[in-house]
Amino acid sequence: ADQTTYGQVTIEDVTFAYEKETILDGVSLDVPKQGILGIVGKSGSGKSTLLKLLMRFWDVDSGKLAIADREIGKINTEDLRRMQGYMIQETHLFCDSIAENIRIAKLDATREEIEEACKKASIHDFILSLPQGYDTPVGELGDTLSGGERQRIGLARAFLHDAPMMLLDEPTSNLDSLNESVILRSLREERGDKLILLVSHRDSAMRIADQVYQMKEGRVS
Ligand code: ATP
Ligand code: MG
Repeated sequence: ADQTTYGQVTIEDVTFAYEKETILDGVSLDVPKQGILGIVGKSGSGKSTLLKLLMRFWDVDSGKLAIADREIGKINTEDLRRMQGYMIQETHLFCDSIAENIRIAKLDATREEIEEACKKASIHDFILSLPQGYDTPVGELGDTLSGGERQRIGLARAFLHDAPMMLLDEPTSNLDSLNESVILRSLREERGDKLILLVSHRDSAMRIADQVYQMKEGRVS
Protein backbone atom coordinates (compact mmCIF):
# COMPACT_ATOMS: atom_id res chain seq x y z
CA ALA A 1 0.00 0.00 0.00
CA ASP A 2 1.19 3.46 -0.89
CA GLN A 3 1.56 5.30 2.40
CA THR A 4 3.21 8.43 1.00
CA THR A 5 -0.03 10.16 0.12
CA TYR A 6 -2.08 8.57 2.85
CA GLY A 7 -2.63 9.92 6.32
CA GLN A 8 -5.13 11.07 8.90
CA VAL A 9 -8.74 11.12 7.75
CA THR A 10 -10.65 14.24 8.81
CA ILE A 11 -14.45 14.34 9.01
CA GLU A 12 -15.47 17.73 10.39
CA ASP A 13 -18.88 19.37 10.37
CA VAL A 14 -19.80 17.74 7.05
CA THR A 15 -23.09 18.70 5.48
CA PHE A 16 -24.63 17.02 2.45
CA ALA A 17 -27.96 16.83 0.63
CA TYR A 18 -28.73 14.84 -2.53
CA GLU A 19 -31.47 17.26 -3.44
CA LYS A 20 -33.28 19.40 -0.94
CA GLU A 21 -33.43 17.12 2.05
CA THR A 22 -30.34 17.31 4.24
CA ILE A 23 -28.87 13.85 4.81
CA LEU A 24 -25.74 14.79 6.76
CA ASP A 25 -26.20 17.78 9.01
CA GLY A 26 -22.83 18.62 10.52
CA VAL A 27 -21.20 15.22 10.88
CA SER A 28 -17.93 15.15 12.79
CA LEU A 29 -16.04 12.00 13.59
CA ASP A 30 -12.78 11.36 15.36
CA VAL A 31 -11.15 8.96 12.96
CA PRO A 32 -8.31 6.85 14.32
CA LYS A 33 -5.19 6.25 12.23
CA GLN A 34 -5.90 2.57 12.11
CA GLY A 35 -8.20 -0.04 13.48
CA ILE A 36 -11.86 -0.81 12.92
CA LEU A 37 -14.35 2.02 13.17
CA GLY A 38 -17.93 0.78 13.26
CA ILE A 39 -20.83 2.88 12.02
CA VAL A 40 -24.40 1.94 12.90
CA GLY A 41 -27.74 3.64 12.48
CA LYS A 42 -31.14 2.87 11.11
CA SER A 43 -31.89 2.46 7.42
CA GLY A 44 -31.75 5.79 5.61
CA SER A 45 -29.66 7.52 8.28
CA GLY A 46 -26.84 8.26 5.82
CA LYS A 47 -24.23 5.58 6.49
CA SER A 48 -23.71 4.66 2.84
CA THR A 49 -23.79 8.32 1.89
CA LEU A 50 -20.89 9.03 4.25
CA LEU A 51 -18.79 6.20 2.78
CA LYS A 52 -19.60 7.35 -0.75
CA LEU A 53 -18.57 10.91 0.05
CA LEU A 54 -15.23 9.54 1.25
CA MET A 55 -14.90 7.86 -2.15
CA ARG A 56 -15.97 11.08 -3.83
CA PHE A 57 -19.09 9.82 -5.50
CA TRP A 58 -20.22 13.37 -4.71
CA ASP A 59 -18.66 16.43 -3.11
CA VAL A 60 -19.73 17.65 0.32
CA ASP A 61 -21.84 20.81 0.55
CA SER A 62 -19.82 22.19 3.46
CA GLY A 63 -17.42 21.11 6.16
CA LYS A 64 -14.12 19.31 5.88
CA LEU A 65 -13.61 15.84 4.46
CA ALA A 66 -9.91 15.23 3.96
CA ILE A 67 -7.07 12.73 3.92
CA ALA A 68 -3.70 13.95 5.17
CA ASP A 69 -5.19 17.44 5.16
CA ARG A 70 -5.95 17.25 1.43
CA GLU A 71 -9.62 17.76 0.70
CA ILE A 72 -11.14 14.68 -0.89
CA GLY A 73 -12.48 16.88 -3.67
CA LYS A 74 -8.93 17.93 -4.56
CA ILE A 75 -7.24 14.55 -4.52
CA ASN A 76 -7.02 13.11 -8.00
CA THR A 77 -9.15 10.05 -8.59
CA GLU A 78 -6.25 7.72 -9.21
CA ASP A 79 -4.58 8.62 -5.91
CA LEU A 80 -7.86 8.30 -4.08
CA ARG A 81 -8.54 4.85 -5.55
CA ARG A 82 -5.05 3.75 -4.55
CA MET A 83 -5.74 4.70 -0.96
CA GLN A 84 -9.11 2.97 -0.72
CA GLY A 85 -10.35 -0.56 -1.01
CA TYR A 86 -14.09 -0.73 -0.83
CA MET A 87 -17.17 -2.86 -0.91
CA ILE A 88 -20.45 -1.09 -1.52
CA GLN A 89 -23.95 -2.49 -1.25
CA GLU A 90 -24.26 -2.99 -5.02
CA THR A 91 -21.47 -5.22 -6.38
CA HIS A 92 -21.15 -4.68 -10.11
CA LEU A 93 -19.90 -7.66 -12.10
CA PHE A 94 -18.91 -7.56 -15.77
CA CYS A 95 -18.84 -10.21 -18.48
CA ASP A 96 -15.53 -11.98 -17.88
CA SER A 97 -14.28 -14.77 -15.66
CA ILE A 98 -14.64 -14.68 -11.88
CA ALA A 99 -10.87 -14.26 -11.57
CA GLU A 100 -10.86 -11.21 -13.87
CA ASN A 101 -13.81 -9.75 -12.03
CA ILE A 102 -11.75 -9.79 -8.86
CA ARG A 103 -8.49 -8.74 -10.53
CA ILE A 104 -9.89 -5.28 -11.33
CA ALA A 105 -8.91 -4.31 -7.79
CA LYS A 106 -5.23 -4.99 -8.59
CA LEU A 107 -4.48 -5.43 -12.26
CA ASP A 108 -1.09 -7.11 -11.81
CA ALA A 109 -2.32 -9.57 -9.19
CA THR A 110 -1.18 -13.17 -9.51
CA ARG A 111 -3.65 -16.05 -9.33
CA GLU A 112 -2.26 -16.85 -5.87
CA GLU A 113 -3.02 -13.33 -4.65
CA ILE A 114 -6.54 -13.53 -6.04
CA GLU A 115 -7.11 -16.86 -4.32
CA GLU A 116 -5.71 -15.51 -1.07
CA ALA A 117 -8.14 -12.58 -1.19
CA CYS A 118 -11.00 -14.99 -1.92
CA LYS A 119 -10.09 -17.10 1.08
CA LYS A 120 -10.22 -14.00 3.28
CA ALA A 121 -13.62 -13.17 1.81
CA SER A 122 -14.85 -16.73 2.33
CA ILE A 123 -15.68 -17.24 -1.35
CA HIS A 124 -12.78 -19.48 -2.43
CA ASP A 125 -14.54 -22.81 -1.82
CA PHE A 126 -17.62 -21.65 -3.66
CA ILE A 127 -15.55 -20.60 -6.69
CA LEU A 128 -13.73 -23.95 -6.71
CA SER A 129 -17.11 -25.70 -6.79
CA LEU A 130 -18.02 -24.01 -10.09
CA PRO A 131 -17.55 -26.02 -13.32
CA GLN A 132 -14.51 -24.01 -14.43
CA GLY A 133 -13.48 -22.70 -11.05
CA TYR A 134 -11.86 -19.27 -11.22
CA ASP A 135 -12.17 -19.32 -15.01
CA THR A 136 -15.95 -19.62 -14.95
CA PRO A 137 -17.45 -16.76 -16.97
CA VAL A 138 -19.71 -14.65 -14.80
CA GLY A 139 -22.05 -14.25 -17.79
CA GLU A 140 -22.71 -17.99 -17.84
CA LEU A 141 -23.81 -17.83 -14.24
CA GLY A 142 -26.41 -15.27 -15.26
CA ASP A 143 -28.50 -14.33 -12.30
CA THR A 144 -27.68 -17.51 -10.46
CA LEU A 145 -25.18 -15.85 -8.12
CA SER A 146 -26.86 -15.14 -4.82
CA GLY A 147 -26.70 -11.77 -3.12
CA GLY A 148 -24.24 -13.16 -0.60
CA GLU A 149 -21.99 -14.59 -3.31
CA ARG A 150 -21.86 -11.30 -5.19
CA GLN A 151 -21.17 -9.56 -1.92
CA ARG A 152 -18.23 -11.82 -1.14
CA ILE A 153 -16.80 -11.25 -4.63
CA GLY A 154 -16.97 -7.53 -3.87
CA LEU A 155 -15.25 -8.13 -0.59
CA ALA A 156 -12.52 -10.22 -2.24
CA ARG A 157 -11.77 -7.17 -4.40
CA ALA A 158 -11.36 -5.05 -1.28
CA PHE A 159 -8.97 -7.59 0.29
CA LEU A 160 -6.99 -7.91 -2.95
CA HIS A 161 -6.62 -4.16 -3.25
CA ASP A 162 -4.80 -4.13 0.09
CA ALA A 163 -5.16 -0.36 0.46
CA PRO A 164 -4.43 1.54 3.69
CA MET A 165 -8.13 2.34 4.02
CA MET A 166 -11.02 -0.13 3.65
CA LEU A 167 -14.58 1.13 3.29
CA LEU A 168 -17.05 -1.66 3.85
CA ASP A 169 -20.78 -1.21 3.54
CA GLU A 170 -22.67 -4.11 5.11
CA PRO A 171 -20.01 -6.68 4.17
CA THR A 172 -21.78 -9.52 5.93
CA SER A 173 -25.45 -8.55 5.75
CA ASN A 174 -26.52 -11.43 3.49
CA LEU A 175 -24.28 -14.08 4.99
CA ASP A 176 -24.77 -16.98 7.31
CA SER A 177 -22.82 -16.93 10.55
CA LEU A 178 -20.13 -19.35 9.34
CA ASN A 179 -19.16 -17.19 6.35
CA GLU A 180 -19.47 -14.10 8.48
CA SER A 181 -17.09 -15.39 11.11
CA VAL A 182 -14.43 -16.18 8.48
CA ILE A 183 -14.70 -12.64 7.13
CA LEU A 184 -14.67 -10.98 10.53
CA ARG A 185 -11.57 -12.95 11.42
CA SER A 186 -9.90 -11.76 8.20
CA LEU A 187 -10.79 -8.17 9.01
CA ARG A 188 -9.38 -8.49 12.50
CA GLU A 189 -6.12 -9.68 10.99
CA GLU A 190 -5.99 -6.67 8.64
CA ARG A 191 -6.68 -4.01 11.22
CA GLY A 192 -3.09 -3.66 12.45
CA ASP A 193 -1.98 -1.45 9.59
CA LYS A 194 -5.26 -0.32 8.05
CA LEU A 195 -8.15 1.94 8.80
CA ILE A 196 -11.34 -0.05 8.31
CA LEU A 197 -14.67 1.78 8.22
CA LEU A 198 -17.30 -0.84 8.82
CA VAL A 199 -20.97 -0.08 8.30
CA SER A 200 -23.30 -2.76 9.58
CA HIS A 201 -26.64 -3.41 11.21
CA ARG A 202 -25.30 -6.55 12.80
CA ASP A 203 -24.12 -6.75 16.40
CA SER A 204 -21.86 -9.64 15.46
CA ALA A 205 -19.93 -7.36 13.09
CA MET A 206 -19.75 -4.52 15.60
CA ARG A 207 -18.12 -6.83 18.09
CA ILE A 208 -14.85 -6.57 16.13
CA ALA A 209 -14.95 -2.77 16.04
CA ASP A 210 -12.51 -0.77 18.17
CA GLN A 211 -15.02 2.10 18.33
CA VAL A 212 -18.64 2.37 17.26
CA TYR A 213 -20.41 5.55 16.16
CA GLN A 214 -24.12 5.96 15.63
CA MET A 215 -25.71 8.01 12.83
CA LYS A 216 -29.00 9.61 13.69
CA GLU A 217 -30.91 12.55 12.26
CA GLY A 218 -27.98 13.65 10.11
CA ARG A 219 -25.49 13.56 12.93
CA VAL A 220 -23.08 11.17 14.57
CA SER A 221 -22.65 10.36 18.23
P1 ATP B 1 -29.28 1.48 4.79
O1 ATP B 1 -29.00 1.03 6.20
O2 ATP B 1 -30.68 1.13 4.36
O3 ATP B 1 -28.26 1.07 3.80
P2 ATP B 1 -28.12 4.15 4.89
O4 ATP B 1 -27.92 4.61 6.30
O5 ATP B 1 -26.94 3.60 4.19
O6 ATP B 1 -29.33 3.11 4.85
P3 ATP B 1 -28.17 6.06 2.73
O7 ATP B 1 -28.12 5.09 1.62
O8 ATP B 1 -26.95 6.84 3.04
O9 ATP B 1 -28.71 5.39 4.08
O10 ATP B 1 -29.36 7.05 2.39
C1 ATP B 1 -29.64 8.19 3.18
C2 ATP B 1 -30.83 8.92 2.57
O11 ATP B 1 -30.46 9.45 1.30
C3 ATP B 1 -32.04 8.04 2.31
O12 ATP B 1 -33.19 8.79 2.62
C4 ATP B 1 -31.99 7.76 0.83
O13 ATP B 1 -33.26 7.57 0.30
C5 ATP B 1 -31.31 8.99 0.27
N1 ATP B 1 -30.48 8.67 -0.92
C6 ATP B 1 -29.51 7.75 -0.99
N2 ATP B 1 -28.90 7.75 -2.20
C7 ATP B 1 -29.52 8.71 -2.92
C8 ATP B 1 -29.35 9.22 -4.24
N3 ATP B 1 -28.42 8.73 -5.07
N4 ATP B 1 -30.17 10.23 -4.63
C9 ATP B 1 -31.10 10.74 -3.82
N5 ATP B 1 -31.31 10.31 -2.55
C10 ATP B 1 -30.54 9.32 -2.10
MG1 MG C 1 -26.62 1.86 3.23
